[in-house]
Amino acid sequence: MKIINPFDESVIADVQEDTRSSISEKYRAVKNGQQKWALVPLKERIACISRFCGLLEEEKDTLALTLTQEMGKPLWQSQNELAGAQSRIRFFIENSEKWLADEWITEEAATREKIVYEPLGVIGNISAWNYPYLVGVNVFIPALIGGNGVLYKPSEYATLTGAHIQRLLYKSGIPEDVFVLVAGKAEAGQALLDLPLDGYYFTGSFKTGQYIASQVAGRLVPVQLELGGKDPLYVADDVADLRQVAEAALEGAMYNNGQSCCAVERIYVHENIYEPFVEAFAEATQKMKTGDPAAEGTEIGPLSRKEQQAFLTDQVSDALSKGGRLLAGGHAIAGKGYFFEPTVIADADHTMKIMTEESFGPVIGIRKVSSDEEALELMQDTPYGLTAAVYSSSEERAHRLFSRLNTGTVYWNCCDRVSAGLPWSGRKNSGLGATLSHLGIRAFVQPKAYHLRG
Ligand code: NAD
Repeated sequence: MKIINPFDESVIADVQEDTRSSISEKYRAVKNGQQKWALVPLKERIACISRFCGLLEEEKDTLALTLTQEMGKPLWQSQNELAGAQSRIRFFIENSEKWLADEWITEEAATREKIVYEPLGVIGNISAWNYPYLVGVNVFIPALIGGNGVLYKPSEYATLTGAHIQRLLYKSGIPEDVFVLVAGKAEAGQALLDLPLDGYYFTGSFKTGQYIASQVAGRLVPVQLELGGKDPLYVADDVADLRQVAEAALEGAMYNNGQSCCAVERIYVHENIYEPFVEAFAEATQKMKTGDPAAEGTEIGPLSRKEQQAFLTDQVSDALSKGGRLLAGGHAIAGKGYFFEPTVIADADHTMKIMTEESFGPVIGIRKVSSDEEALELMQDTPYGLTAAVYSSSEERAHRLFSRLNTGTVYWNCCDRVSAGLPWSGRKNSGLGATLSHLGIRAFVQPKAYHLRG
C-alpha cells in the first residue's frame, strides 16, 4: 500500500497490507494476550498509558511531521493535535480508577450487592484519518485501561501515524499481544467484521458506519459509531462583535481544511446583520494562507484525498447553478497537490448540496434568516445530529434553541471543540454511543452484578 504525500504527491512509504490470514493470526494472539492483560492491576495498566503520554511529548516533532506528510494538515495543527491527545490521555489517567472501581450498592444488608466492571475482551477499533491521534485516543486508551485487547485499524490515510502509535505503546509497556495494528483499506476492515470480536468502535463516514452496524448486528456485541455531521452555526442579531464572530466561525469552518467531524458546515445569519457579517467573513477568508503544510504560517494545506477536489467542485457548481453568490475561492488549485481554495457561498439554501451534504472541505454556505425560529427549523433540517452552535449575547436566547436541537453537543459562543470531560456523541446519522467523559470510560467495560449472602 503506497502512502502518498497529498502536498506533492510523492510516495513517502510502501506499507505491507495485512491479509485475511495475517489478521486472523493477530486476532488469536490478542485473544490470548488480553486474558493476561486483564489480570494486570489497573494501576499498572494506567502507568503504561502514562508513559505513552510522556513518549508522545518526547517525540512530538517527529510525530507531527509524519502526520503532516501523510494527511496534509499544517504542521502547527499537527502539533496542536498531539498536545490535545496528551490532554485527553491525562483525563483518562486521572479519572479511570474512579469510574472502574467496584461499586457497592448495599454493603450493610444481609445480602450485600456490588457492581464490578469487567473488560469486554478483544475490541476492533476502525479509525478515521482526519484526527488520527484524537479519534484513536478516544477509543484505544480507555479500552486498554479497561483491560481489553485492541485490534487497531488506522485509516489507510493515516497508517504511518498508526505505526508510530503502536511503536510507542509497546515502548511504554503495553504487551505486543494486547494492542496490534492492522494495516489496510476496506478489505482489512471487513476482515475485522468477520472475526468474532467482543465490540466494534468505529470512527468514519455514515455510509461505512451503517454498513458495519448492519454486518455485526446479529452478534449482539457493543457497537459504537462516531460519524459525520453537517453542523450548523447561527449568528443572532445581538452579537457584540460581528467581526470577531465571523473570524471564530471561519476558524470553525476551515481548521484542518474543514476536515473535522464537527467543523462548521453551514451558517445562518439574522437578516439585521447579514450583509456586514457576510462581508467580514469573506474578507477574512480571502486572507487565509494556502500552501505547503510544513511551512510556517500556512493555514490551509492540501486535502487528504484527491477525490475530494471533484466532490467539492460539484458542490460549488451545484450551489452556483441554483443562485448561490460566490464570495471567495470556488476552485480546485491546478498543479501538484490536492488543493482547494477556501470557498464562501452566500445566499445558499437547502436545495443546494453545500447546505445538506457533508462537505468535509474548506467550503461553506451562508444563509439569511428572519428569526430564531426560522434558524432553528433550518438547523434541524438534516439527517445528522453531531453539534450545533449559537452566537448571541444572551445565554437565555441560546438555551431556548438548545433544548429543541437534536444534537449530541451544543455550543454557546464557541464551535468546533471537544472536551475530554464531556461525552462526545452523535445523534441520528452522526452516530451511536459516546466516547470521552465518564461515559467513554465505561463504554469499554461490562457490568457484573454480585449478590453476596453470608
Ligand atoms: P470512512 O468511512 O471512509 O473510513 C473510516 C474507516 O473505515 C477507515 O479505516 C476505512 O479503511 C474503514 N472502512 C472503509 N470501508 C470499510 C468496510 N466496508 N468495512 C470495514 N471498514 C471499512 O471515513 P473517513 O474518510 O476515514 O473519515 C471521514 C468521516 O469520518 C467523515 O464523515 C467525518 O465526519 C467522520 N468522523 C467523525 C468523527 C466523530 O467523532 N463523530 C471523527 C472523525 C471523523
